[in-house]
Amino acid sequence: MFDSFSELYADQLKLITDALDQAGINNVLWGHVIERFLEEHVSSGIECIIHDGMAEKACQTLLAAGLEPCKYGEECPATRHRQDRPDAVAHVHLEATTLGCDIPVMFWEKSSLLWAFPELPSSPPSSDDPYYMPIRIPWTYYRNAATPAKAARGHRASSAAVNASRSQRPPIDLTPARMLKPVKIVEALIWLMCRDRNPNEGLECGWEHRWQKVLDSWVQKAPGLAKHGLFCRNELRPGFLPLWDYLCGGEGEQTPEKHRAHYLGLQAKLRAENALPSSPQPKRRTVEEIEHENWKRYQKFVKRYSGNTPWIEED
Ligand SMILES: [Zn+2]
Repeated sequence: MFDSFSELYADQLKLITDALDQAGINNVLWGHVIERFLEEHVSSGIECIIHDGMAEKACQTLLAAGLEPCKYGEECPATRHRQDRPDAVAHVHLEATTLGCDIPVMFWEKSSLLWAFPELPSSPPSSDDPYYMPIRIPWTYYRNAATPAKAARGHRASSAAVNASRSQRPPIDLTPARMLKPVKIVEALIWLMCRDRNPNEGLECGWEHRWQKVLDSWVQKAPGLAKHGLFCRNELRPGFLPLWDYLCGGEGEQTPEKHRAHYLGLQAKLRAENALPSSPQPKRRTVEEIEHENWKRYQKFVKRYSGNTPWIEED
């Protein structure tokens, strides 16, 4: 792995996946943990998708495996409302004693993110699975990601020497942990954009904003992944290709109007096919609500630290 901390971190990812597998809870890693991993970093939270209704069992399983229940209440970074991020259905914590810092492990239900996808994997998927893949990344993939400065700092060697030594190393292997194939992550994000895009207005500073930001990061990653056989454009759902190609610059200049037309066109088509969830989406929070919560948090902070005022747990 990248350093001794990320080795410990990787061990925890394997342990978590293994415990869920042993308990018969199908699972796949998702989100920041994968994005950061492909950038040669570790994330401050671990996100895992499981089947609907399995969150309680998943939490109990990980508690039995040595993780800890949340003790931070609404101050927990895993539950704290952010304007551009939905909340996970449940979470537990890797305690600071395990890794030296507290890392929440968050669960998402499949229907909230991957409703259009096949069953989640119950074990490391085979290499020809069309949707899921074992997390096994060749060191050469990271060749371009390591800047000379970073390489010199980490290894006291020239980047050329580092690259040569990397090409001979076995891939970074996090199995049994698995991920969606990167092209299927893009597909999932386009589904989510189409589900959450407000047809009446511009891009809201809400979930759409979040999905679009993540999609942009995959536009950046895709060429590097493709060079190593980790991203195959042709495996994207055919109806999504025009939008993806547009996002990758295939139509030249990108404008808000073109962007909107692409999404709303695709959204209308998917709605007509009854392919988007009909259940109401989780409530969007308005800017006023977000500000109100920030204000409430500030008030609690003031109460907590202003001398004689007794600390009040709840309003
Ligand atoms: Zn927590």
